Amino acid sequence: PANRLKNFGVNLWAEFSSLAKEHKATNIGQGFPDFVVPDFLQEEVRKAVAIPSANWYTRAQGHPRLVKELAAEFSPLFNRSIDPMSEIVTGVGAYEVIYAAITAFINEGDEAVVIEPHFDCYAGDMDLSGGKLVRVPLRPTGDAKYAKNWTLDREEFEAAFSERTKMLITTTPHNPIGKIFTKEELEYIGSVCKKHNVIILSDEVYERVVFDDNEHVRIASLPGMWERCLTVGSAGKTFSVTGWKIGWALGPANLISQLQHVSSCSTFTAPTLLQEAVAGAFEYERSVAHTDDAYFKWLPAKLQQNCQMLSDAFSEIGCVPVWPDGGYFMIVDTANMGWDFSDLKTGRCYDVDCVKWLTREFKLATIPISVFYGNKNRHLAAKYIRVCCAKSDETIVRACQIIRSLK
Ligand code: PMP
Ligand code: GLN
Repeated sequence: PANRLKNFGVNLWAEFSSLAKEHKATNIGQGFPDFVVPDFLQEEVRKAVAIPSANWYTRAQGHPRLVKELAAEFSPLFNRSIDPMSEIVTGVGAYEVIYAAITAFINEGDEAVVIEPHFDCYAGDMDLSGGKLVRVPLRPTGDAKYAKNWTLDREEFEAAFSERTKMLITTTPHNPIGKIFTKEELEYIGSVCKKHNVIILSDEVYERVVFDDNEHVRIASLPGMWERCLTVGSAGKTFSVTGWKIGWALGPANLISQLQHVSSCSTFTAPTLLQEAVAGAFEYERSVAHTDDAYFKWLPAKLQQNCQMLSDAFSEIGCVPVWPDGGYFMIVDTANMGWDFSDLKTGRCYDVDCVKWLTREFKLATIPISVFYGNKNRHLAAKYIRVCCAKSDETIVRACQIIRSLK
């Protein structure tokens, strides 16, 4: 294999998802909704397949109908007129556009600052580009039971930047903490990036899942920020169809054109049929936006309800859930349970052994947190596990029963 693959081992999702399958576990680990695809989305696929050209190759940088829909959807959210052809690229999921962004801008020896814990693919993509991630952890300040209290230490954050820094990677709503960065936090982060002339890759795949009275702020919509931001979204997460694998990045033409180069020689196009269906889904959603049928109202309300049920069940047995501001995930501190896995002598972290034990012995699949950290800061969330609230009623009810049986 090529040298750039030297740090690669078994993929985290492959490992924990196959363990869940092997033990026929109730899966509140991997972040994929397991509920039935709503009728309006099924209808969009039926309509798309009947259009002959929707079954052919399409424009490499993004299917024309989809980029036009995305421009119509996002222009008001960014308070600007987004040009569909030059300021948007679509790809095979957010995964592909993140890969394209890192490949397009990171040279060997360049650095990207990332807020830790962080979604794992950023590290793999940096390895493939020969760059280095510089991690700055969120640290609980005040009551650790609220995701919003996990914040950046400003001195530590600023110290992470140097003349080698090319990019900052942020995730809001955050995976795995569930934090939504406030406008004030994003203004601060933006000002540091501006000072160091750094591109911001803002992963906002969970943008539609906002709980309580929180607000999802797009860093690219803040004054003077559009020019340096790539904002990433996912139809999989927006419409709860992770298998569709349609993602996009929005940003200024000079940055987006570079991602378009990477995509056009890697995948060339994301599937036309599904781009057509996603375009139809946005169009439909806009037509019902102010009614009770609005999917973007139903989704956060449902996931918040699920999160509350999981949170209640964990609290009852003595675990300490960290209440999220939004997103698919909640982290849960298991330290009070007095579970001890030291005899297993696996050499892996407590949370990895704990997750495997819960999957094997109780048929409940979750995800460890240490896998979202580098070695240095892994201890910061040593006894936390991650659960996903984007699950069907049946899965949530069954998971809560299992959690209560752990007492
Ligand atoms: N970013 C984050 C933070 C994620 O959790 C995921 C997983 N869905 C992705 C990107 C990849 O999204 P997609 O499924 O659209 O490729
Ligand atoms: N993004 C999802 C998660 O964090 C799924 C990632 C994957 O399965 N590759 O669970």
